[in-house]
Amino acid sequence: MFDKILIANRGEIALRILRAAKELGIATVAVHSTADADAMHVRLADESVCIGPPPARDSYLNIPSIIAACEITGADAVHPGYGFLSENARFAEVLGHHGIGFIGPKAEHIRVMGDKIEAKRTAKRLGIPCVPGSEGGVTDTDDAKRIAADIGYPVLIKAASGGGGRGMKVARSEADLESALMTARTEAKAAFGDDAVYLEKYLEKPRHIEVQVLGDGRGNAIHLAERDCSLQRRHQKVWEEGPSPALNAEMREQIGGVVARAMQELGYTGAGTIEFLYEDGQFYFIEMNTRIQVEHPVTEMITGIDLVNEQIRVAAGAPLSVRQEDVRVEGHAIECRINAEHPATFRPSPGTITYFHPPGGLGVRVDSAAFQGYRIPPHYDSLMGKLIVHGRTRNECLMRLRRALDEFVVAGVDTTLPLFRTLVRNADIQNGLYDIHWLEEFLKTGGLEVA
Ligand code: ADP
Repeated sequence: MFDKILIANRGEIALRILRAAKELGIATVAVHSTADADAMHVRLADESVCIGPPPARDSYLNIPSIIAACEITGADAVHPGYGFLSENARFAEVLGHHGIGFIGPKAEHIRVMGDKIEAKRTAKRLGIPCVPGSEGGVTDTDDAKRIAADIGYPVLIKAASGGGGRGMKVARSEADLESALMTARTEAKAAFGDDAVYLEKYLEKPRHIEVQVLGDGRGNAIHLAERDCSLQRRHQKVWEEGPSPALNAEMREQIGGVVARAMQELGYTGAGTIEFLYEDGQFYFIEMNTRIQVEHPVTEMITGIDLVNEQIRVAAGAPLSVRQEDVRVEGHAIECRINAEHPATFRPSPGTITYFHPPGGLGVRVDSAAFQGYRIPPHYDSLMGKLIVHGRTRNECLMRLRRALDEFVVAGVDTTLPLFRTLVRNADIQNGLYDIHWLEEFLKTGGLEVA
């Protein structure tokens, strides 16, 4: 096992990793920018190292500084969390060259899944169902027309290097295709420095359903059921729950089995998520995230399995602590991503938290690095904390969530808490009747009335 882990991240996920390391009896090193000198992850770690000024590219993304911090402190492994360097294959390789463990998958798997065309090709080869579309990149307009006619309109043009939902354009007919192709390529070039695009059938009203996996890198891989993350704004997840209100046990076993077998064949190491769109009883692969995800607590609450603990164990060469037949889905969990943003305009609201009272009680978990007096810096994303609630049934979970949201008090900055208080009382949400467009529609039609 590792002796000392350096956590190359900040905020709530840095705390989450610290907690897992402490429970395993492993020493911890926090790194931080000058803007985060007072942050909770710095206070709770055994040691800390300042790695640079506030902009992430000069600190949390600065590979030489992080390697230096490992060498100064004698850390023998790095946990990257999510975001920042978590899906940077070169970072994993550089750590390897320095004899430092990377708590994540092999660099080759990060690389393959980071290229969307390559990822889709790999998924298909492994027997994972994909959205009908072009076999590879498309540059020629006539090729695009032929492929689009083949798969049928509407089609979606997506950037090979895409991320965060950017560089995507819908073409509803052949008349739209040429300009959509041009716009998508220009946007992709500007955003990612790569104008390679590919075509996919555009699904009109899918749900976003993702399967959590764990692999030991030696031919053993299991699935831990799914999370439904259909409630999104600008392709950013807002509310995640598991199990999905749209699946039954048989469908769960079926898709979980397909994914676990695929990861077994790939020889995947650590935690990963296979994301699907789901429409009319069919699953369509969209991408794989080769890291721990923001919404991982949903899975922890319904299975009782500590995903970060498993990541650390596997990276150190130990086998998974659970077998597929030990995984049981119990009850229901919902996560709300509470951002320091205005609940109606979503404008970021950095500043000092003057009062902080998180909810508690049975089945309530708050993952947050916030505290009374904490000043939220303006340099990073606006996630202030996650409220995760568990109940024996979805209804019990909803009732408990409503109670917990009403108890949560944050003053000094705006938060999205009022949005969740409205959502939890909405009939469509209570009935589980929503797709990936539901929240945008709801916001557009004035669903949220807050001053
Ligand atoms: P990114 O890496 O940019 O986040 P994804 O491929 O994960 O791109 O897609 C982001 C979101 O775009 C999905 O969650 C879904 O809302 C929408 N989307 C992607 N592919 C399709 C498709 N074929 N049809 C309809 N919507 C899609």
